[in-house]
Amino acid sequence: MPATTGSIPAPRPPLAGGRTGPDALRPLLDTVLDALRGGAADRGGPLPAGGPDAVADRIRRAVGDVLPERGVGAAEALHRLVHAVAAGSADPADPACAAHLHAPPLALATAADLAASALNPSLDSWDQAPAASALEETVTDALAAEVFPEATAPAALVTTGGTESNQLALLLARERHAHRAGADAVRVLTGAGAHHSVRRAAWLLGLPEPLALPGPGGGLDPAALDGALTQVPGPHLVVATAGTTDTGLIDPLADLADLCARHGAGLHVDAAYGGGLILSHRHRTLLDGLDRADSVSLDLHKLGWQPIAAGLFAVADRDRLAPLALTADYLNAADDTDAGLPDLLGRSLRTTRRPDILKIAVTLAALGRDGLADLVDGTLATARHFADLVAAHPRLELWDRPTLATVLFRPLGATDDRTAAVRRALLTEGRCVLGRARADGRLWLKATLLNPHTTPDDLARLTDLVEGSNPR
Ligand SMILES: *Cc1c(COP(=O)(O)O)cnc(C)c1O
Repeated sequence: MPATTGSIPAPRPPLAGGRTGPDALRPLLDTVLDALRGGAADRGGPLPAGGPDAVADRIRRAVGDVLPERGVGAAEALHRLVHAVAAGSADPADPACAAHLHAPPLALATAADLAASALNPSLDSWDQAPAASALEETVTDALAAEVFPEATAPAALVTTGGTESNQLALLLARERHAHRAGADAVRVLTGAGAHHSVRRAAWLLGLPEPLALPGPGGGLDPAALDGALTQVPGPHLVVATAGTTDTGLIDPLADLADLCARHGAGLHVDAAYGGGLILSHRHRTLLDGLDRADSVSLDLHKLGWQPIAAGLFAVADRDRLAPLALTADYLNAADDTDAGLPDLLGRSLRTTRRPDILKIAVTLAALGRDGLADLVDGTLATARHFADLVAAHPRLELWDRPTLATVLFRPLGATDDRTAAVRRALLTEGRCVLGRARADGRLWLKATLLNPHTTPDDLARLTDLVEGSNPR
């Protein structure tokens, strides 16, 4: 290093890519992994105790000066911040962290995601992502064929999740009807338990507010839908749900597909949650009729155990995606496309885009159909076992048998206020993370059991925690 007077400039930080990137990464990864292990040990449970103020306080102390004049260096910054975030996380790998569709990611998928960060392909043009874009096309074509086995030209796009996928479904429905002279706006029809992102997509796209039809457990009732399709002027897009967020119910997809065909309505199935069942030999029949939809949302960061994000939006007919086509000279000039450079812009509404397909492809290859089916089947079996425990428990009440991995239950005889207080007390004490859902007019605790390593003992501990909770 040359001798200088005054301050010595720090060496520039190494890059993650290229031939030297892996050697620069290796010691940093050791630091990260140690911090993850230490943070989880310090937390000692599914989430930090003390509630939001205590957590925010610890984070502020760990961060210190957000942007110091002189940096502390990679090792110190990585250790301090990764440790603090790990210690303060709600960790879905803990069996008592079971509130939401918040899956514990597989180690192998997380390792693949590191490669995605190191290589940093951006899927908005071929010259930024030659291999990643080819991988995306190959893998999404195969996954689309899983969703639509009979279709001649299915396709799938990678999204950030069900929210973006549902938005695409409504956008494509709007565009299908937009150019007919005098056409009315598309009317979206859903069950009451449809995901909020459907309503928000309609709002964003300038469509009339979706009509949420009443049905048992928030599901889309065929009789109610038949009535609405007869009475409410079209064009219609029916949005069915395969796995509602609150209860995990799957709408009767085949019956709904019949109705849509009879009334000439479009059908989108929001299978963000339940779509993972296509991977299961045993439970796939729960999705009968899925392949008769025009489009399907499917989140592999739920029943697919991917790090966020790993959404898919599948269409039965790739021509449906035509409205997404767009030319920007700096990314897909016509002469480049004519010369054979793939045009990626029509595969997303986003521009810069991570190769989320890499971790998905690695997972599919590593586990195979059997390995993934085992995870799905094991998870559903865990939820059924938990429901059995609750049903047999003298001081807990079960809402209903689970369809997927969601179990609603509550302390027997508790009011809604007390049920809500139990959830908050367990959260604040750092003991367990349960969700809440309203069903049949009452408030329930919600366990979404996506952890394939959860044991019967873990489940018994969950019931003990709820039973033993005594909030003031
Ligand atoms: C999770 C979920 C969504 C939203 O998906 P994100 O991945 O959070 O954007 C939409 N619909 C259903 C049924 C879901 O379970």
